[in-house]
Order: sequence, then structure tokens, then C-alpha cells
Amino acid sequence: MFDGYLDDLCPECLLNKVNSHLLLNDSDFYECPKCNLQISFREYPIATVLNFRGKGKIRTEKKSISNDNFGAGLAPMDSNSKKFLSTSQLFEDENSFKEYISKIPNK
Ligand SMILES: [Zn+2]
Repeated sequence: MFDGYLDDLCPECLLNKVNSHLLLNDSDFYECPKCNLQISFREYPIATVLNFRGKGKIRTEKKSISNDNFGAGLAPMDSNSKKFLSTSQLFEDENSFKEYISKIPNK
């Protein structure tokens, strides 16, 4: 169930009841190996959901999100931001999150 906060599982895959661990990629974003959703921690404790998918270039050491960083609030990316910053407004509910990810192009 979507609660608006991130642990180390992909929030998009969770909607489909799939547990997929986010892993650091070569752009320093956390990426889902299954759907390639990308999350930025640059504004931690905001977890910004990027509006474009990764290319599956997961770092070889397979670094996942540590327990200490669980609980960041999921927010959409500001589409005008060139630095992948969020809108600073967390997703209000599952529907707003679903609507946002439905507009992220597939790779
Ligand atoms: Zn996923």
C-alpha cells in the first residue's frame, strides 16, 4: 500500500505488489532494476521521483538505501528544474502518485 514514504523498495512496483529493491546507479540516483523508476536523495529527507527513467546502469557494488535513510517523503520532480529538484510538495495520496508515474515515458 502507498503511504507516501520510501523505504528501499520501488514505490511503482509496490503498486503492482512486486518487491523490487532500489539500487544506486551511475548517475547517483536510486533506480529500480525492474521498471527503472529513479529517485533522487539530493533533497533528503525528500525523495524526489524523477520524471524520466534510468538506463539500468546499476553500480556493480549494488548499493541499496540504508535503514537510516528510510522514511523519506516522496515528491514529484519540478519539471522546470535542471538540477532534478522536487516541487517540495509531497504526494498527497496514491492517486496523485499514480497520475505522476503514468506520465513518465517508458524507456
Ligand atoms: Zn519498479
